[in-house]
Amino acid sequence: MPEVFRNYINGEWVDGPTFENRNPANTDEIVGLFVKGSAADVHRAADAAQAAFAGWSNMPGPARGALLFKVADILEKKFDQLGEEMCREEGKTLPEAKGEVRRAINIFRYFGSEGSRLPGHLVPSERDRVHMFAIRKAIGVIGLINPWNFPIAIPAWKLAPALICGNTVIVKPASVAPLSSWRIVEACHEAGIPKGVVNYIAGSGGEIGNALVSAKPLKAVSFTGSCEIGNWLHAEASKRHLRIQLEMGGKNPTIVLADADFKSAVENVCNAAFFSTGQKCTATSRAIVEESIYDQFVEALKERTAKLKVGNGMEPGIDIGPAVDQGQLDTNLKYIEIGKQEGARLVLGGNRLTGGAYDKGYFVEPTIFADVTENMRLAQEEVFGPVLAVMKAKDFNDAMRIANNIPFGLSASVQTTNLSRVFEFVYGCEAGLLTINLPSAGVEYQLPFGGTKDSSFGPKEQGPAAMDFYSDYKTVYLKY
Ligand code: NAP
Repeated sequence: MPEVFRNYINGEWVDGPTFENRNPANTDEIVGLFVKGSAADVHRAADAAQAAFAGWSNMPGPARGALLFKVADILEKKFDQLGEEMCREEGKTLPEAKGEVRRAINIFRYFGSEGSRLPGHLVPSERDRVHMFAIRKAIGVIGLINPWNFPIAIPAWKLAPALICGNTVIVKPASVAPLSSWRIVEACHEAGIPKGVVNYIAGSGGEIGNALVSAKPLKAVSFTGSCEIGNWLHAEASKRHLRIQLEMGGKNPTIVLADADFKSAVENVCNAAFFSTGQKCTATSRAIVEESIYDQFVEALKERTAKLKVGNGMEPGIDIGPAVDQGQLDTNLKYIEIGKQEGARLVLGGNRLTGGAYDKGYFVEPTIFADVTENMRLAQEEVFGPVLAVMKAKDFNDAMRIANNIPFGLSASVQTTNLSRVFEFVYGCEAGLLTINLPSAGVEYQLPFGGTKDSSFGPKEQGPAAMDFYSDYKTVYLKY
């Protein structure tokens, strides 16, 4: 009998009807049964979080920080288990899953340390004997809505800054990957974070989301997911003046210039487009290549990508796991058809993988389309799978124009050895996360994270910027 993972409300594990979570690499395997929360659960959790707010926000920051360090220690003790569970619930390879667990632990420690700083402002007054300063204060009850693609890192990078600033929270995991964030909540419970501070409710996004934005105590929502849901949430949250932070879709370019280190450019594009099955929000989905090396690049990328091994991420030597579920597999196959119909040139892949163990999972071949042009849907719309569009640019300026000619602006990369081009890219590229001579995906937690244009809304996540969303200022003028 699979294990049942209950919701967590006001410090208690709460039962109810369940839904199944299955391994996308082997759908015969049930990862766990999760209690399907209801709108009533959300309202109870919001009330509990409201009741816990005064105690938690008044606790000294270093004491809250010490509890976050405990959470990190508990997660670290279960490091191998957490990696394996993530591999089974999301499908990414075991090394990728373990890397993500490590990142979540580091995030808890990073924000745990912030408890001893919580930086405000102290500046000299223009007036005599006036002392003026601004201190940070918590906001209140915050809803944290998570996607499935980084099932432990994203909940960690929302939860840890929310808690260190003194807020209380309701965590909503993605239904296809709810276990990793459940483990964080379990760690919060074991660490002794007071009841009501952290609440966790799995279940239908529509029902939980609706209840969250209508729950009276709620003061803010942090959301990572699709543009469609994010835009709906924004409209609902605005009606109530909820503070909101949205991190959404992308169509990220990597520009490859003729002067790049060719071998590493091929490696970086292959890595960014296909690792984690292309299911990173920062993945490269458009390679924009300078004309003079275009044919050579397409050939080398094809050769490199053909070597990738697709399979169950628990097995050693596997580079790429499955799509996360049937819906994402269907989307991948739909865009492969669209690419063919639009007249893009299929260079590699293009099929669902079948036969043997493949029949039990949602596996698709890493797919490269060349000669993709700007107006094709394959150049404009997010696929969120291992489907890469390669596009030809006349020169650097043309490549920049193509790179910016989309509604999204999450991440972007350039491969070049020309320093002036690097700076032109840094200042001219319309994206929030830029990499140079690295894959477009692969960010760290110590700096602001987030996009621009239709990809994002509100203050950035991670690094010192995270504190700006999860806290407010109180400004004080004092005559002595
Ligand atoms: P999604 O379908 O938008 O779901 C995201 C979360 O929203 C899930 O927890 C989902 O619950 C919930 N949800 C669904 N309907 C809702 C509603 N009406 N109100 C409130 N919440 C609702 O996105 P996804 O498929 O999980 O993730 C893939 C997308 O996330 C891609 O577009 C990707 O680019 C984006 N992403 C962006 C970033 C970034 O930082 N910019 C990072 C990672 C992913 P259920 O699971 O129960 O439906």
